[in-house]
Amino acid sequence: MHKNIYLFTPGPTPIPPKVLQRMNQPIIHHRSKEFREVFSRVNSNLQYLFQTKQPVLTLASSGTGAVEASFVNLFSPGDKIISVNNGKFGERWVKMPRTFGLEVVELKYNWGDAPSTGDIINALHKHPDAKAVYLVHCETSSGTFTDIKLIAEAIQRESSALVCVDGVCSVGGMEIRFDDWNLDVCVTSSQKGLMIPPGLAFVALSERAIAEMRYSKLPKYYFDLNKALDSIITNDTPWTPAITLIQGLDTALEIIRSEGLESRWSAHAKHAAFIRDEINSLGLKLFSKYPSNALTTVILPSKIESKIFHKKLREEHSIYFAKGQSDYMDKIFRIAHIGYHEADEYRIAIDGLKSVLTELAFSQNLH
Ligand SMILES: *Cc1c(COP(=O)(O)O)cnc(C)c1O
Repeated sequence: MHKNIYLFTPGPTPIPPKVLQRMNQPIIHHRSKEFREVFSRVNSNLQYLFQTKQPVLTLASSGTGAVEASFVNLFSPGDKIISVNNGKFGERWVKMPRTFGLEVVELKYNWGDAPSTGDIINALHKHPDAKAVYLVHCETSSGTFTDIKLIAEAIQRESSALVCVDGVCSVGGMEIRFDDWNLDVCVTSSQKGLMIPPGLAFVALSERAIAEMRYSKLPKYYFDLNKALDSIITNDTPWTPAITLIQGLDTALEIIRSEGLESRWSAHAKHAAFIRDEINSLGLKLFSKYPSNALTTVILPSKIESKIFHKKLREEHSIYFAKGQSDYMDKIFRIAHIGYHEADEYRIAIDGLKSVLTELAFSQNLH
């Protein structure tokens, strides 16, 4: 299919034509049999997506809202948690719980680094009263992969802390198995790996996490997950759901289900490996020490001005890569592999990149 633009940003991501068509229908009412049928199918496909038998709650918010919901539903003021900060999003999960009066032990790493099991276990030994560990599966600001499976196993061996995962960038594109890995909280949002527009967020909760919610004293109303858990039993939501997005999600999840999660994970791995290889052969350097399969981050050669680089890509090739964030704004660029992409688009991305680099006279290692 010919696209107007090639969007390789890590959210929002491109949307399949079938999903766009599905959302281009007259609105239905949410307190109706028709909507409940859709939501029932969505709820069971979300369980498939997270690989869980637990309920997966759908909220009308972006991913940040779902992480906030996890804090206000699980904890009380003064509770201690450990939060890994190895980038922009990890930093957010240090600041946000502090806003709510939690005591946050910050495990800070340089961008591009990933947390080690040893550091997390040491922190748990030092803070045996920590109620949870927050981890980012794919840190989108640096394109860094954290081995959640390995770390979760170690945490569970050593402590009873809840394992809470920001899977916003990874769910749908990278292997994550909520039940098998004994995760307690996993959050994602619609505009990353799920191929629908922004506006929905999802939270999976383990039985342990649900039990913990009884003790939470932080105020909550809209994001009271008990209300959502009560409603989901009848395939309902406590408030007006984002009906049209949920219809789009229904089609997106059917696409994911018919392709199969495993084959989606391996397709992402293949596209990421292709991009990494091409980046290396262009003589460019990867930014992350542990590159993820959801996006690739690349160091922009210092001779090249970020603004001109992105402008040329956009205006001459209709290619949208993402800039870096914060200190790395103009020092790196990011190519996402999540969302809806035809296989040949990665070749188009690389050809566009080559041509812009050549034009900007970074020709040393080009072949
Ligand atoms: C995009 C992103 C978020 C934030 O989600 P919003 O939907 O923008 O609120 C959180 N964590 C990660 C890893 C992300 O990539």
